[in-house]
Amino acid sequence: MNNSDIIIIGAGAAGLMAAMQLSRAGKKVTVLEANNRLGGRIHTIYNVPGADYIELGAEFIHGDLAVTLAALKEASIDYKLSEGETWHAQDGAIKKEGFFLPGWELFEERLKSLQEDMSINAFLEEQFKGDEYEDLKTSVRRFAAGYDTADPNRASAIALRKEWIEDEEGGQHRVDGGYMPLIQYMADETEKHGGTILMDNTAKEIKWAKGEVTVITAANKEYSASKCIIALPLGVLQADNDAQCSIQFVPALPNHTKALQGMGIGSVIKILFVFKEPIWKNKDVVKNMEGNNNKMAFVFSDEQVPTWWTQSPEDSPILTGWLGGPDAALYKKNTDDELLVIAKRSLAAIFNMTVESLESYLVAAKAVNWSADPHILGSYTYATVTTHAALQLLNKPVAQTLYFAGEAYFTDTVVGTVDAALASGKQVAEMINAS
Ligand SMILES: Cc1cc2nc3c(=O)[nH]c(=O)nc-3n(C[C@H](O)[C@H](O)[C@H](O)COP(=O)(O)OP(=O)(O)OC[C@H]3O[C@@H](n4cnc5c(N)ncnc54)[C@H](O)[C@@H]3O)c2cc1C
Repeated sequence: MNNSDIIIIGAGAAGLMAAMQLSRAGKKVTVLEANNRLGGRIHTIYNVPGADYIELGAEFIHGDLAVTLAALKEASIDYKLSEGETWHAQDGAIKKEGFFLPGWELFEERLKSLQEDMSINAFLEEQFKGDEYEDLKTSVRRFAAGYDTADPNRASAIALRKEWIEDEEGGQHRVDGGYMPLIQYMADETEKHGGTILMDNTAKEIKWAKGEVTVITAANKEYSASKCIIALPLGVLQADNDAQCSIQFVPALPNHTKALQGMGIGSVIKILFVFKEPIWKNKDVVKNMEGNNNKMAFVFSDEQVPTWWTQSPEDSPILTGWLGGPDAALYKKNTDDELLVIAKRSLAAIFNMTVESLESYLVAAKAVNWSADPHILGSYTYATVTTHAALQLLNKPVAQTLYFAGEAYFTDTVVGTVDAALASGKQVAEMINAS
């Protein structure tokens, strides 16, 4: 039996932020991580042919987010502005267009006067009945699915209003060298202050009573402490008992389980293509660009992998593909190679070229299906109609002994982000340090 003050399950941004703060405060911390790497949904890989690094998971800082920017500053990691134009692929051509969707102003006006929460789909059906609104409804559903990776039948209309209309985001940034050095910094700080981080340790059972916790792993090892932070992805906490990383509470926490099940976790497939050169800027290769696309950041399309982005304003040969929401969940059983075939077909159609020709410019390709990753089982959370009530319960410690931390629990910042995970980990550590 291994004893510590606090066991933290999950070495993602939330778990490691909590571990760093608590070990600095003199607590004996043990972090149990199921995977053979740190970072969870932060996964920067280096030494990729044609690129210094690529982000398989989180990539952007969505605004001037205080906790993230402070953590980067402390770790002496720089970040850079990410900006550019939105383009659309339609009828065989790729054109620069504004971001706003047709009919968006009317949608905004009606959403602003919504009093009682409902799913965004129910709102659309109630407020936009005529055939003339079909395009608007399709665009809004696609935006909820694509950007928030949310199921429009479950996503809260009031939460989307807050995120899309009311919140001021500030500029978008990317972390110089990727997000991974921040993860490494928090892990190093934890170990420097006496904390232990154990990878390849899947927690399977949490036996608890007030002030006492024993965590039993898949390899039947036991770790005990007086408190435990559960910093696991919502997808894992919602999973059936037979899932590789699912976890049992003994005694059970039926109200917490019900609250977790009522929250929303999306699906996403992320594609990374590295080309010999930014082929979309070469008019001899990609011939259907209308005008100068030097500042092109996003390209939206109707293809199976519909959304693509460049590294604008950097002149980089990386192109990222994104399929989010319920459509991404349909591919849970596909292999990465099958996903790459679909992605190449989509991009070749957008660029109006053959797959063979597209392939001749590719130097590296990677597909990540986050909903199929047994350690994660999803993308990031979105608010449902019951999330608000669920968080009232989940953000309170259970008997001053069990604490939930992670991107799913912190809503004072952009939901579902690295910032939400860091802020949640920090908040839980502060709560424990003050107790
Ligand atoms: C494709 C993609 C793109 C994204 N893009 C952005 C972006 O641009 N900007 C942004 O801010 N956010 C983005 N996000 C969201 C962001 O990555 C997450 O919100 C954040 O990293 C979550 O951190 P976390 O600590 O809550 O959870 P996680 O990072 O998921 O950490 C949980 C950890 O628990 C471990 N674990 C699971 N089960 C067990 C078990 N039984 N025992 C022990 N350990 C276990 C997992 O392996 C994992 O390491 C993106 C996410 C995805 C998937």
